[in-house]
Amino acid sequence: MRPIQANISSHALQHNLKVVRKHAANAKVMAVIKANGYGHGLMPVAHALNQADAFATLNLSEAIELREAGFTHPILLLEGVFSSEELRIAAGFEIDVVVHHTHQINMLQTTDLMRPVHVHLKMNSGMNRLGFPCKDYATAYQHLSSCPQVGEITLMTHFATADTAAGIQQPLARFSEATKTLDAPISLANSATILRHPAAHADWVRPGIMLYGASPVTGTPAADFDLKPAMQLHSQIIAVQTLNKGDGVGYGAQFIAQQTMRIGVVACGYADGYPRHAPNGTLIAVDGQFSKTLGRVSMDMLCCDLSDLPDADIGSKVELWGNLVPVDTVAEASGTIGYELLCAIAPRVPMKVVD
Ligand SMILES: *Cc1c(COP(=O)(O)O)cnc(C)c1O
Repeated sequence: MRPIQANISSHALQHNLKVVRKHAANAKVMAVIKANGYGHGLMPVAHALNQADAFATLNLSEAIELREAGFTHPILLLEGVFSSEELRIAAGFEIDVVVHHTHQINMLQTTDLMRPVHVHLKMNSGMNRLGFPCKDYATAYQHLSSCPQVGEITLMTHFATADTAAGIQQPLARFSEATKTLDAPISLANSATILRHPAAHADWVRPGIMLYGASPVTGTPAADFDLKPAMQLHSQIIAVQTLNKGDGVGYGAQFIAQQTMRIGVVACGYADGYPRHAPNGTLIAVDGQFSKTLGRVSMDMLCCDLSDLPDADIGSKVELWGNLVPVDTVAEASGTIGYELLCAIAPRVPMKVVD
């Protein structure tokens, strides 16, 4: 079998949940496990984070999978439902829904449900994706609170700039103004808000990326927030080549040897989820020692420098990202963020829960 594997650490997930609780001690924690638990696997993540107060996901099918596995936590669908049929099913499984648009209110008013559904009413505080404009928010709330199909209502928004210098002052002020007459629990904070804006922790926090041990703030390593990587992507060296001065490596010969050198060929490529945009020199670890990638990443393989690693050979263990190589370091070198690399781990990579 090809030696690539992703190890998932329940211990790290649980540690990171404690970090969330340390920051937001008075808030309840809704663990965001969309995108297959940010690539870590829906079920392993849900089991590891069983101590969370609620889960959030995107697809009704994922929410049902959690219910059928016995999870009794509140489960929220972050984009709500897409049809009356889905709304009926959600109510049947006691799954909560985001309401972000008038058409979803109409759906609630015109669909017969087994029981009322709990709703998170979303305000558009500046992201301009989902949510009611501030000026229409109180009216939307009134419509929902007078709708017999609606149970509890939570007030919610999602910040566009919690991780940047712009901060959340303006959107938070907008939210507070629009909700000042409403008496209901409030949910505002993604990971960046949890770590950087304690004033917005409110009643519920919604951590995603920090649970997985990557950083929500570009330029600040996850370790600075005491977060531990929940995924280690590792593989092995499956071939060794000795290059002479002037020899190229990989498609397009993007790396040319300046002297005689050994390189290792690693069983991991972009079809496994390693970014093709990772340039020459991206950090990698071989037998626990730091090295760098050489040449273009191909579909199934990439190459690394063994010049300073004379003992490395076929079978040497390679960490693509994990405890030694932060996923954010690979992401930054490749012009993206850790979120994208974790979510894009390919289905062909076997996953194993290791602790
Ligand atoms: C994905 C998501 C989150 C989690 O965001 P992170 O940056 O991963 O912490 C929180 N709230 C909503 C509405 C989301 O869609």
